Amino acid sequence: MKLASQELFKLATTDSLTDSHNRRYFLEMANIELQRSARSGDDCSILMIDLDHFKSLNDNFGHQGGDLTLAQSAKTIKDSLRPYDIFGRIGGEEFAVLLPNTDLNSAFDIGQRIRSAIEEQTVDYLTHKIRITASIGAANSNENELSLELLMSRADKNLYRAKNQGRNKVVAESE
Ligand code: GH3
Ligand code: MG
Ligand code: MG
Repeated sequence: MKLASQELFKLATTDSLTDSHNRRYFLEMANIELQRSARSGDDCSILMIDLDHFKSLNDNFGHQGGDLTLAQSAKTIKDSLRPYDIFGRIGGEEFAVLLPNTDLNSAFDIGQRIRSAIEEQTVDYLTHKIRITASIGAANSNENELSLELLMSRADKNLYRAKNQGRNKVVAESE
């Protein structure tokens, strides 16, 4: 079977479960935006989002229930974003958003909007109504030429803090 190049491109860049950028394509797009922001002296922020207690969700509802929750959560996050934000699934139940032209305070607010939208969604699966929460860490580039790797690791540190503070939280500490 011969695939058109557009289809090949979609296969290589998209996570099929959530119909979002896959890790590799997210990193590529986020890097381009981060460099563009640095050149024009804008700052941008990143959010790292990890669904809470996902292992027990799989244990309680099965892998299919977990998959459906992942897909719906990705959609809920996307619906909370602006058209120019860059969103991707970067791991099993982990997502990232690069927010162009966004300071840390605004990133915190967007994080809270996402956190509360996920908390409020219900996933209809068989006879179940599945509920889930998310923990979110934010970081800001401070207009510096900062590597995406460093930005992500700072946000990861805040994500870890959000988990330690009891989950279903957004943390945006600057260091
Ligand atoms: P925490 O609140 O600390 O994040 O707890 P957790 O259980 O979410 O943490 P952990 O990262 O240890 O577990 C993530 C689980 O997500 C493990 C894995 O089985 C599940 N998972 C990863 N990818 C998928 C997937 O594509 N589908 C489903 N159904 N589950 C997945
Ligand atoms: Mg995880
Ligand atoms: Mg998790």
